[in-house]
Amino acid sequence: MQLYYEKDADLTVLQGKKIAVIGYGSQGHAHAHNLKESGFDVIVGLRRGGPSWAKAETGGLPLFETAEAVRQAQVVMILVPDELQAKLYNEEIAPNLNDGDYLAFAHGFNIHYGQIMPPAGVNVFMAAPKGPGHLVRHEYTQGMGVPTLIAIHQDASGDTRGLAMAYACGIGGGRAGIIETSFREETETDLFGEQAVLCGGVTELIRAGYETLVDAGYAPEMAYFECLHELKLIVDLIYEGGISNMRYSISNTAQFGDLTRGPRVINEESREAMAEILEEIQDGSFAREWILENQANRPVFNALTRKGEEHEIEEVGEKLRSMMSWISKKKLVDKDKN
Ligand code: NAD
Ligand code: MG
Repeated sequence: MQLYYEKDADLTVLQGKKIAVIGYGSQGHAHAHNLKESGFDVIVGLRRGGPSWAKAETGGLPLFETAEAVRQAQVVMILVPDELQAKLYNEEIAPNLNDGDYLAFAHGFNIHYGQIMPPAGVNVFMAAPKGPGHLVRHEYTQGMGVPTLIAIHQDASGDTRGLAMAYACGIGGGRAGIIETSFREETETDLFGEQAVLCGGVTELIRAGYETLVDAGYAPEMAYFECLHELKLIVDLIYEGGISNMRYSISNTAQFGDLTRGPRVINEESREAMAEILEEIQDGSFAREWILENQANRPVFNALTRKGEEHEIEEVGEKLRSMMSWISKKKLVDKDKN
């Protein structure tokens, strides 16, 4: 797999083009400000009076309603939630796109599953940072960046790849590494990662461990520290140097337990569940479920989110975190600004 850096990109292909970043949430605020500080001509498109409008005004970039921003721009990056993109595209973006414009995404869901089908004359690319938007912004301000995927879906003008590279550099990706992939690969691996490992897998692992300890009569605070708080410390070691690096740092007792007990928790049955989850992503059934869930106003999403918020671990965690002043000092998310 080839990694590209700033030196491999020609930023001039994006100069002289106006970039409209649609959405000013986690990714939107990061792309918009990073691109601006990289010297590009950036405007923001939003719903007037929507929840981000005031934040974007405070941010100081030129701000327009979506349709107007698309009219002005030649490059349009869609950074509204995936489940709202098709409607927004049909109503406000498509009517204002010209042949030769560039339509960009930070996740392939809508293109890969055919929810958005841009006309053949429009160029379509992806620039997807492999990290949350607040980190994309934070790293950039520190002179660094987040590894970024690029992919090309349509290349009517013949220069879309160069443009995608320049865009990825503009948000800081060229400082960390740019990897070329396809919409299909990005969409399927991204969904699998968040479902089986990063979000779904990890949250269930934490709660199962917590419940096992608490049900056996141990203090909830101890269970929280063991099964949630310390996770970050372990993940930091893995992130820095891989699993072996983490094993080098932990005690021999911990390592022996890790090696012999881990495969009993994540076992054949868990692997079969992972394979099934991947199949549902590949055959479109997860996408259909999520699209229909939205059309029904999200009954399952809302019920399960509420149930999760009511779990005892949330309450115990809030109490404990308020006693650990160092945590809030390093916060990346400031809900009033980004
Ligand atoms: P978000 O929920 O944080 O922000 C969405 C923004 O869109 C908000 O500013 C909201 O006000 C605005 N918005 C909503 N409806 C709108 C409408 N009808 N018209 C105009 N603006 C509207 O979203 P996000 O998490 O930044 O996700 C954006 C895209 O980035 C998605 O494709 C997502 O898959 C992708 N992505 C996100 C992350 C992440 O860190 N959150 C990481 C990689 C890729
Ligand atoms: Mg335009």
